[in-house]
Amino acid sequence: MENERYSRQSFLGPDAQDKIASCRAGVAGLGGGGSHVVQQLAHIGFKKYALFDGDIAKDVNLNRNVGTTLADVEGGVSKLDIARRTILGLQQDADIIAVPGRWQDNADVLKRCDIVFGCVDSFSERDQLERCARRYLIPLIDIGMDVLHPEGDPAPTMSGQLILSMPGGPCMKCLGFLTDQRLAQEASRYGAAGPRPQVVWPNGILASSAVGVAVDLITDWTRSLRGVVYRSYSGNTGLIEPHARLPYLDLNNCSHFPVEQVGDPVFRKL
Ligand SMILES: [Zn+2]
Repeated sequence: MENERYSRQSFLGPDAQDKIASCRAGVAGLGGGGSHVVQQLAHIGFKKYALFDGDIAKDVNLNRNVGTTLADVEGGVSKLDIARRTILGLQQDADIIAVPGRWQDNADVLKRCDIVFGCVDSFSERDQLERCARRYLIPLIDIGMDVLHPEGDPAPTMSGQLILSMPGGPCMKCLGFLTDQRLAQEASRYGAAGPRPQVVWPNGILASSAVGVAVDLITDWTRSLRGVVYRSYSGNTGLIEPHARLPYLDLNNCSHFPVEQVGDPVFRKL
């Protein structure tokens, strides 16, 4: 049955299912993006997970968190339990490490992952997650979206990004996505910003693209994923394409993550 089950994705390669089943996928954040990622990983055949989320399902999540039901909201079910239910419905023997809290406080779990999906809300969380993933040489795939409607503009602008942050390659700062200015602006607005707009379809597009990159990384089925992955998504045009800034960036000299920052932090007595 197992052979039959994955017969429609056998083009991924003869060892692909074994590679997929043995890869521990970390998912930081089980909201709009993370809920899609988890669902797809379980369909594809991932059996090992590390899930991080401390929230319970609320009615405002129902517009986008796949797998969440009205009964979950009424019962105050955690996003972690909803994700676990989705996975176990497809992978009965899944090995799931479920962390009901912040991944920042559980780096020991994060470092057991072979790949991490960053589905977090803020620039500062992205920054911290990339620092942690780099420290343990784990590929990180970050996704996110936003909707802006500056005064005077006739229509809102929906945009999103997908970034593969590979150890040794350019980081989110090299790519110009994480900037000191953005981090500082976010910090100064902390607590003042209202709820950010989020909808299901861009979450689904970006999560699907992220899962596609992960499967390619693991199986190398396209034989072409060799360079930097930084894609921008326009919700207004529906296009997802290599970021316009890419050709102009220095992608060979990441100075943000020197080699001495690899491994567990060591505190030296002075
Ligand atoms: Zn860098």
